[in-house]
Parts: sequence; structure tokens; C-alpha cells
Amino acid sequence: MRHVLTTCVYCGCGCGVYLREENGRVTGASPSRNHPVSRGNLCVKGWHLHDFIHSPNRLTSPLMRKNGELVAVSWDEALDFTAQELTRIGVTTSQQGIGVLSSAKCTNEENFLLQKFTRAILKTNNIDHCARL
Ligand code: SF4
Repeated sequence: MRHVLTTCVYCGCGCGVYLREENGRVTGASPSRNHPVSRGNLCVKGWHLHDFIHSPNRLTSPLMRKNGELVAVSWDEALDFTAQELTRIGVTTSQQGIGVLSSAKCTNEENFLLQKFTRAILKTNNIDHCARL
């Protein structure tokens, strides 16, 4: 068993949390006593930070709707289609038809990169996040 210090992803407070790893699986979360933000505390979301990691409901490949059905496709097919559609919609709506929703299930660093991608590459400020405070 080992404990890995990380940052809670559920909101912008950024509490320090240890994730417990046993036999290749993340099995628990506990607060960092010395963290300058949380100082030994977590809210109920932080205590359950590990719950989604091994959920059988997580997607393991991209899905595309074909003939009314969601089917698993390769990353190349999904990314090619997404790039084509973002380009088409951006051109026809002066970028205002594009919006991006990020997720608390991403790391803070991934969310930072997504807002940079949205503003710098997609040229729109239409970005939001489910854990925005
Ligand atoms: S969700 Fe709770 S534990 Fe996580 S960063 Fe926010 S306040 Fe801290």
C-alpha cells in the first residue's frame, strides 16, 4: 500500500489529498495534514475523490452516433471528425457556435490546457466547468 499526494479535482479550492493505492487500484482518499489550503480537512466530495476512478461506467473509447446508435470508434476517427466539425461550425458561426464544457474529473492542469485550447485555438470564450465556484 502507498499514499500519493495530489490535489482534489472537484473544485477550485485545491485541497491537498492523499490517494491510497493497493495492488494497482486506488482504494481511498484522506486529507493532507500539512497542506496550506486544506490543513487536514476535506469536504464530502474530497473524501470520495477516488470513487470514480475504477467505475465500470467510465468510457474506455470514443463513441460516435451512427445510424442512431452510439458505437465505439478509434481515437483517429473521433478526432478527425471532431476537427472537421469544429472547423465547419467555426467558419459558419464566426466561432460563436462553439462551446466547450470541461469536467471536474479532469486534473487542474488538464482544465487549464482546455481553456487555453478553447481561447487560443478555437478563438472563443465560450468555456465553462461543472465545478465553477
Ligand atoms: S471539493 Fe471539497 S475537498 Fe475538493 S477541493 Fe473542493 S473543498 Fe476541497
